[in-house]
Amino acid sequence: MKQSMSFIPTLRETPADAEVKSHQLLLRAGFIRQTASGVYSYLPLATKVLKKIETIVREEMNRAGAVELLMPALQQAELWEESGRWQSYGPELMRIHDRHDRPFALGPTHEEVITSLVRDEVKSYKRLPLALYQIQTKFRDEKRPRFGLLRGREFIMKDAYSFHSSKESLDEMYEKISTAYRNIFTRCGLNFRAVIADSGAMGGKDTHEFMVLSDIGEDTIAYSDSSDFAANIEMAPVVVQYEKSNEQELQLEKIETPNARTIGEVSSLLNVDETKCIKSLLFKVDDRFVLALVRGDHEVNDIKLKNFFNAAVVELATEEETLEIMGTKPGFVGPIHVRDEVEIVADHAIKAVVNGICGANEEGYHYQNVNIERDTNVKEFIDLRFIQEGDPSPDGVGTIRFAKGIEVGHVFKLGTRYSESMKAHYLDENGKSQPMIMGCYGIGVSRTLSAAVEQHHDENGIVWPKEIAPFDVHVIAVNVKNDEQRELAEQIYSEFVNEGLDPLLDDRQERAGVKFADSDLIGIPVRVVVGKKASEQIVEVKVRKTGESFEVPVANLKETIQSLL
Ligand code: ATP
Ligand code: MG
Repeated sequence: MKQSMSFIPTLRETPADAEVKSHQLLLRAGFIRQTASGVYSYLPLATKVLKKIETIVREEMNRAGAVELLMPALQQAELWEESGRWQSYGPELMRIHDRHDRPFALGPTHEEVITSLVRDEVKSYKRLPLALYQIQTKFRDEKRPRFGLLRGREFIMKDAYSFHSSKESLDEMYEKISTAYRNIFTRCGLNFRAVIADSGAMGGKDTHEFMVLSDIGEDTIAYSDSSDFAANIEMAPVVVQYEKSNEQELQLEKIETPNARTIGEVSSLLNVDETKCIKSLLFKVDDRFVLALVRGDHEVNDIKLKNFFNAAVVELATEEETLEIMGTKPGFVGPIHVRDEVEIVADHAIKAVVNGICGANEEGYHYQNVNIERDTNVKEFIDLRFIQEGDPSPDGVGTIRFAKGIEVGHVFKLGTRYSESMKAHYLDENGKSQPMIMGCYGIGVSRTLSAAVEQHHDENGIVWPKEIAPFDVHVIAVNVKNDEQRELAEQIYSEFVNEGLDPLLDDRQERAGVKFADSDLIGIPVRVVVGKKASEQIVEVKVRKTGESFEVPVANLKETIQSLL
């Protein structure tokens, strides 16, 4: 492509409303423009990158045995009523009406459409398994569209759905598609982790999120420093073995602790370590009250609480509820002398606390020398706390570290959630009707583009990973008014095209400084500068990533470029 004929509106200044680097650089380098909040035009450069990412996605999905199709973005409300999501999806669903006042939605995802499609066509186990995918524009009226393409209201997604007659078959596909995802994100040059995520009641193994590591990520990942274990911090089990000290158990004693409510205040008032304090929090778990105990230096993980009780809703009790049930305000709550209706669960660490401190259920008082098994009525000791940095990795290999991540992909075992509600049944070997077992698998294609920029840039601009760069090589004619330079640049450009490379030629009538700055900003992996030494058939080759540059005779250019790419 010739730059004089292209549409690459670069900006010198950083746009004020762009908070993160990828958003700033994609605007400045002329890749995208916003038309409405969370709605963007992909200009020619971004379009090229999207196509490259899509090609990688297609190759890997096809290799996994999935087949491409394309479904409508416009979806009638009836389908969503069948699944129950017309009611439950909420304001993120973009709802519209046609001229006959019939309700429609602009698809945020396609479980309903694909389930109805497959239900109508597939009747026998002989046609299963089936895995279908599409690459398509999705619509979600996000509450806070932000960070450019990272959270848009209109964005490009690859979504795949699989249908099975057995759990084993679903497991197999889940593994194949997870492998495809690893290949895709590796080829896109991303530093990522496949992270165990929360799937509600279904248990941790049934969903993984693919997270690109980045400080601007919204999710916190707990990962091992020496294995590939990674989990959303909410999901990571704690496997620490706590040892009780051989300190002698002393007599329980109520002590005055005026104004000391928090663990920090109590531990400094009494001059004891936070690890000796017992943090007691009253939760409402569905319709019962549960007192959750963790060590003073730990935090209660309410997802673990929810999973332990198999509950639908877990909430911290309000101040009024705490007053009513415990007889005191939060801050002085404790596990001693508690009403029978309140169940007490404690983290494993609490069992090893000798002569601890806890609230006395009386304002201004705590107990000291608390020995949990002796003094309280704990129903069960469970893994109840959030994992922390420095904890051993749950897989037994290495130590836990935290990182922030941007979710670029998601694999999920749906089970029969949609096939049951939408009656997608097949006949098994015995002629018996069964709901299909389903999986779904998404990749944010436009988000992946942004995430790549977030990970690959320097102070001068984007540094594209080779496989998804908008072009392979940037040929710059320093002075197009000089015939020798212009002609040599055009000759090199044509040769690259003939060799099957994808070059961008800067043939604009601009100053050299402008061309170099734009070239850095756009971030094509290799640059060939045709300048003063054109007459000697010598050009300069510069590697965008390292900044190294060297002179190369035109005769050797082909090999040089090949070895760099
Ligand atoms: P998030 O928690 O970030 O909102 P999600 O859990 O809603 O994501 P899914 O429904 O699993 O996402 O969608 C599949 C993929 O689509 C996500 O992994 C992500 O890469 C991408 N995606 C989701 N919402 C957006 C958005 N608003 N803009 C861009 N990409 C998105
Ligand atoms: Mg979302």
